[in-house]
Amino acid sequence: MAERLEKIGVNCFLYRRGESPVPIHVYLSEKLSKTFTETEALEQLYNASLLPGVVGPVIGMPDIHTGYGLPIGGVMACDYETGIVSAGAVGMDINCGVRLLTTKIPAADVDKAVLTKLLEAIARRVPAGVGRVSQVKELRRADLEAIAAAGAAYFIQKGFGRREDMERIEDGGCIPGAEVAAVGKEARERAEQLATIGGGNHFIEIGRVAAVLEEALAAHFGLYKDYIYVLIHTGSRGLGHQICTDYSNRMWANGERNGVRAPVKGLACAPIHSNDGQNYLKAMALAANYAFANRQLITHFVREAFVEVLKKPEDNLGLDLLYDVAHNIAKKEKHGSRWLLIHRKGATRALPAGHGDNPGCYLATGHPAIIPGSMGTASYVVVGTGAIIKTYCSVNHGAGRVMSRKKARQEFSREDLRRQLGGVVVAARDINLLKDEAPLAYKDIDAVVATLAEAGLTKPVVRLEPMGVLKG
Ligand code: 5GP
Ligand code: MN
Ligand code: MN
Repeated sequence: MAERLEKIGVNCFLYRRGESPVPIHVYLSEKLSKTFTETEALEQLYNASLLPGVVGPVIGMPDIHTGYGLPIGGVMACDYETGIVSAGAVGMDINCGVRLLTTKIPAADVDKAVLTKLLEAIARRVPAGVGRVSQVKELRRADLEAIAAAGAAYFIQKGFGRREDMERIEDGGCIPGAEVAAVGKEARERAEQLATIGGGNHFIEIGRVAAVLEEALAAHFGLYKDYIYVLIHTGSRGLGHQICTDYSNRMWANGERNGVRAPVKGLACAPIHSNDGQNYLKAMALAANYAFANRQLITHFVREAFVEVLKKPEDNLGLDLLYDVAHNIAKKEKHGSRWLLIHRKGATRALPAGHGDNPGCYLATGHPAIIPGSMGTASYVVVGTGAIIKTYCSVNHGAGRVMSRKKARQEFSREDLRRQLGGVVVAARDINLLKDEAPLAYKDIDAVVATLAEAGLTKPVVRLEPMGVLKG
């Protein structure tokens, strides 16, 4: 495969494959390129490059690995007039994403006993694990019409959060155009999981700011060395999953009628302006707003848990929302003079300073992009530079897997996992279920983050280190 990757810039490779109608770019550092084995993921980028209306380059992020249709760590831009939308290229967990809370709590004040109490207090309020439903009965009967119309704001108005949270969520926590009517009965019935995190890759992590890499930016973001942060990673749960399944099936079945034939079912797609395309975008927006609402509710319960355990008023603790970013979503955006639908699957938007779509509080700096690593290694906050337009303002969404879940379960024992976790406290129903989440199942986050930084596309702002994590 190496012979097919031609270096065309710092940490940037052109993937040469057949008659690809548009270029395919893959970002890998020197170190990552030497051990790169993701042949199947590259094949998936190639398949994506064949779809109608795809605008080059199709991009592989440094955390790229095989996914359903489009790889995780894949960015596919489509012309908004002539292009397609693909449910599989958005992903199963629509608007899976992360949000980061900053605090005024020195890490020194949180010893193992306090940490354990915090994780327990959060776990009592926020169920973890596949299939779990809301702890609060009222949330199990989610008002989907209200969520479609207002997203996270609907719950902020009900008292689950602060007014100022709203500005610190991508798209203000609500993507316009969501419609409940575009969603099937089965999907609607699965919308009983608000304020839950879900399975093993989703988490609530408590850690400390380990290093400040850009002093002024970090201060602007309220991130200070050796203070506690909270990282929340989850998405639209069963609702998004069902919508992806339903629309992948529909787009695949209607390929001929819609005049598009995807090379594989995972890339099943429909013209953006077809009925199937429009209905998918309405359903996707609903799931996205549900995910924003989900992370908002979790934030509320995390704040409540901190107040309970630390016995201080919320004001004194901080727990301010830094930002909430989506990493599985398709969005209409203007790049240059052209309107595009950008599919980001396991990729995070990072708008540079001065970009008009930044919220006011981040217009002068670019908004923070949050990049989790693993439960035993670092995570990062970065911002995009002016050069980020090369990736349609996208950065990697994590470290990315280096090992399939199955392989990790075979490879690591319970003791291996404990060793890899070092001193990190883990709250989970059964630690055996987390072998596939072992830190060594993921790539080296430092090398992954360095890839785009060395290429001049991002500036890392802080390095975060986990202390405790709640997992499914
Ligand atoms: P995904 O959305 O693809 O499931 O996960 C995003 C990224 O989160 C993964 O690529 C991985 O790097 C990171 N990750 C997975 N588990 C944890 C965790 O417990 N803590 C942190 N900080 N990152 C994690
Ligand atoms: Mn995710
Ligand atoms: Mn997810």
